[in-house]
Amino acid sequence: MTHASFSVASARATSSPTASSPAANAQPTRPARGALSAAAERMLGILAEAEDKAEAEDEDCPGVSPHPAVPLPGRTAFRWIEESLGQRGRVIEHTCGCVMTVYELISYGGTYQICRCTLPRPGVPAVSWTAERWGRREAYEWWRRLLTGQAR
Ligand SMILES: [Zn+2]
Repeated sequence: MTHASFSVASARATSSPTASSPAANAQPTRPARGALSAAAERMLGILAEAEDKAEAEDEDCPGVSPHPAVPLPGRTAFRWIEESLGQRGRVIEHTCGCVMTVYELISYGGTYQICRCTLPRPGVPAVSWTAERWGRREAYEWWRRLLTGQAR
């Protein structure tokens, strides 16, 4: 008798707040919440995949600046020299610093050179510059070729 009345009372006590108030709230939010979590899950999946890929390539890659493509067989070879056009160069573009060799497109008051910074090895100094003196348009064209592996 006391046991039965207790369970009915407790059932009421638990069912009435859960049934009325969250159900009224959940009705409009539930479909939106479902759609959001599905999209969020997809996004998380994509992010995790991208992260795995980035980690496989390099753990320290910030993933912002471009990476030069693998040099193509018929690429144009730049002539690299050990002197720049001056001290007052302004870095216009640069490749990602996560790899051993970093390239910078530098403007010296409208005349451009590409700078290469790398680990020195026989025949390759730590810092070198392209020997050509380019105008802006030409410089960007060579920069594009460098990134696509058509020049190096
Ligand atoms: Zn990188």
